[in-house]
Amino acid sequence: MKHFVLLLTLLASPLYAGDIMVDDAFAIATPPKLGFVGVNVTIPHKEHILSIADLVSDRAAVMGSANTLIFRADGKVHADNTDGYGFMQNLRQGAPDWDPKAGPAAVMGAGGAARAVISSLIDAGCSEIRLSNRTKSRAEGLRQEFGTKVEVVDWVQAGNMLDGAITVVNASSLGMTGASEMRVPLDALHRSAVVTDLVYTPLETPLLAHAKSIGCQTVDGLGMLLHQAVPGFERWFGLRPDVDDDLREVVLR
Ligand code: NAP
Repeated sequence: MKHFVLLLTLLASPLYAGDIMVDDAFAIATPPKLGFVGVNVTIPHKEHILSIADLVSDRAAVMGSANTLIFRADGKVHADNTDGYGFMQNLRQGAPDWDPKAGPAAVMGAGGAARAVISSLIDAGCSEIRLSNRTKSRAEGLRQEFGTKVEVVDWVQAGNMLDGAITVVNASSLGMTGASEMRVPLDALHRSAVVTDLVYTPLETPLLAHAKSIGCQTVDGLGMLLHQAVPGFERWFGLRPDVDDDLREVVLR
């Protein structure tokens, strides 16, 4: 039952505007009237939704975006961001011996997901984050925001930043079904690295397939999707779902 409800949450969660142009304030006011206790919010609403919410969690404020809304009994809308939590829980579950403090992290991408990744890596004690993005100014924006622990690497040099990295994260949409191929050279990747990809379609991305082939521990992006849903689900329904193999199996069916 708990898995079924979580699955429904995932499937029915995006703040759906579809092809219908609706005012965001209207879109946010309607679900509580229909009895919804909350929704997940996805691209392109994640940033704008903060300006409409009545209350914003600290982590949503730091990340400048929200992925979870809680419709409170007093009528107030509470916005939270659980992407960083989901990212970290997924890595801790998928690679239990991984230690973010043990060495540099290399992150590809500088969009909303990368912001959550960087913020949570810094919180976890990672002291060097090499960051590369096709549009360099976005990566530089994150460096300004998060400080000197973040070092920006030119996109054409992205392969070099994998050298010596113990945590490697694809936070770009490269490798996703229907998106551009991951063309970053992976020769410098060492098998001691823990490699994770936020992309979960396909489940085994080209990055993860290569990393696995040279002996790296890999963690796919589906776990992050499941883990990020846990705090919202608990607030909405008063139940904390387990993210385990059974749940993965149900979602993958
Ligand atoms: P976003 O804000 O739109 O950022 C997209 C990122 O991908 C940017 O860094 C962008 O670079 C890069 N990119 C896109 N096309 C590219 C190309 N052809 N070459 C090089 N870089 C390219 O999206 P986001 O929210 O950060 O999400 C990024 C990915 O993470 C998506 O695939 C999303 O589905 C996934 N995600 C997964 C989870 C999960 O739970 N597993 C959670 C959140 C996001 P530019 O800045 O140069 O455009």
